[in-house]
Amino acid sequence: MTVQRMCAVCRERFDKSELLRIVRFKDGEVKVDTGGKMQGRGMYICKNNECLSQAEKRKVIERTFSVKNCPEIYSEISELCK
Ligand SMILES: [Zn+2]
Repeated sequence: MTVQRMCAVCRERFDKSELLRIVRFKDGEVKVDTGGKMQGRGMYICKNNECLSQAEKRKVIERTFSVKNCPEIYSEISELCK
């Protein structure tokens, strides 16, 4: 059975391979978890351009993690999804 996770933007379930994991560390730092093994609070966004732009527009990462603006995360994500 494949492990499925929910995209924080469109709320649909996807196979892990179709999602990007974003992690918030205890010190408040937010990173894209490319290896899928980082310790911390995680959230998922599907690798879909529509979801990525929606995430940035609606500040989904900031709201989910209660952090300040993190534009560099969104640019990292869009780089990874090219
Ligand atoms: Zn999505």
